[in-house]
Amino acid sequence: MDEKAEDHLAALESVWYEVIEAVNCGRTQGLVCPECQHEGGLQIEEQQGRTIVSCPNCKRVVEVGIATA
Ligand SMILES: [Zn+2]
Repeated sequence: MDEKAEDHLAALESVWYEVIEAVNCGRTQGLVCPECQHEGGLQIEEQQGRTIVSCPNCKRVVEVGIATA
């Protein structure tokens, strides 16, 4: 991974930080895409212990790794 890709990833994570934190805390309702502010909210999908957050408007997909005790 080159530096530009890493910068992009870090920027993406900081933009999505609040959403990721909310999902980690089990709050999956009323979340809004931080990139396009789509009013329809975000789609939360659980796949094999991982949570995939996706925006139906701008098609952004973010994976949330939930730490299980
Ligand atoms: Zn979006």
